[in-house]
Amino acid sequence: MGLAKGDGRTYKEQMSQPSLMDRLAILADAAKYDASCASSGTAKRTSKGGKGIGSTEGMGICHAYAPDGRCISLLKILLTNHCVFDCHYCINRKSSNVRRAKFTPQEVADLTIAFYKRNYVEGLFLSSGIVKNSSHTMEQLIETARILREEHDFRGYIHLKTIPEAEAEMVRRAGLYADRVSINVELPTVAGLTRLAPDKDVGVIEGAMGDLKSAIIEAKDARKRFKSAPRFAPAGQSTQMIVGADDASDATIVGKASALYDRFRLRRVYYSAFSPIPDASAVLPLQRPPLIREHRLYQSDWLMRFYGFAPGEVQQAADDAGMLPLDIDPKLAWALKFRDRFPVDVNRAPKEALLRVPGLGTRAVGAILAARRQRRLRLEDVAKLTVSVAKIRPFIVAADWRPILLTDRADLKALVAPKRTEQLELFAA
Ligand code: SF4
Repeated sequence: MGLAKGDGRTYKEQMSQPSLMDRLAILADAAKYDASCASSGTAKRTSKGGKGIGSTEGMGICHAYAPDGRCISLLKILLTNHCVFDCHYCINRKSSNVRRAKFTPQEVADLTIAFYKRNYVEGLFLSSGIVKNSSHTMEQLIETARILREEHDFRGYIHLKTIPEAEAEMVRRAGLYADRVSINVELPTVAGLTRLAPDKDVGVIEGAMGDLKSAIIEAKDARKRFKSAPRFAPAGQSTQMIVGADDASDATIVGKASALYDRFRLRRVYYSAFSPIPDASAVLPLQRPPLIREHRLYQSDWLMRFYGFAPGEVQQAADDAGMLPLDIDPKLAWALKFRDRFPVDVNRAPKEALLRVPGLGTRAVGAILAARRQRRLRLEDVAKLTVSVAKIRPFIVAADWRPILLTDRADLKALVAPKRTEQLELFAA
């Protein structure tokens, strides 16, 4: 790549920078630790050595869900992986020995437009390490979004990771350009944050999240009254918690997530399983938690958001140490602990009770409610709506089925849990 005119960098800076492609490789790779898109947690597969096609390890493009439910591909990069902070769990921390690079806002905007025009992406997910100071970095993030919106009239999706330590006015400005804004709470407990991210402060992080919440509500109110009022982060705000870098239990994480949803009206809490990094600090665990733990936390999140479970009920599915079982999902774990709540009659039970049945998803429950207006449902009718009829049989009553004493059996878990081969698949990574 030739030297770019008018990109704000000095001749010396341009000469000392890696090429644009090298920087893209560095900064897309550095962004892969951010979990705020739906592609995290899958099994690793590559086509190295000429075997097969495709890879789940590629970097730079991730998938997320737009407010209307569409799955969209995003260019996911950092503006820079230089950082003046020293969060122990982060590969980009000040004391880390990684190759550094940075983009200018103009370069990120140009890359986004170039990828968009080639149909590679439909939007941008932009985060950054902190250079100089938080407000300077935030200004650069906002400038990127501004160039895209105002100079290119870019209508695609933009997710900006905002920096809580930046001036409040800036965090609010980000929402005028971005569809979604997010601020990472990083760790589930104050003690964990203090120990592992010494430059961060829970009061500052939650203060910024509160500001975002107020700005989102105010903008929605204003738009109800004036159609011309500016949009502000129409896809809301989200956050991310790192799992397994400290000793917080699943019950603690579930409680924290629930409090965050309530206090800040979050659209999503993302969980990112801690992954050991090169030259890791001695205060970190040597091993990453099993990926399935992240998956179980997402399932518990679903139970609270779509299945009517209170946080305390999800926590009841955990063991004495507060950990959710890894071999079965939290809904099944809860049902096995509270067997007196079953069996549930699919022809008479209210929606809330049907949603508690292991193996019945929200769609299946909707289909049951619609179908039973016409006729009484038999076991085979319900079987058509679920992946495993063996899993739900002990927990339901149908027109031709009643599970005599099944829920009293000591070996019920063995009867309904996924077989070991399925479990191994889940643990593969
Ligand atoms: S502020 Fe962000 S980029 Fe910098 S060390 Fe902490 S987590 Fe990493």
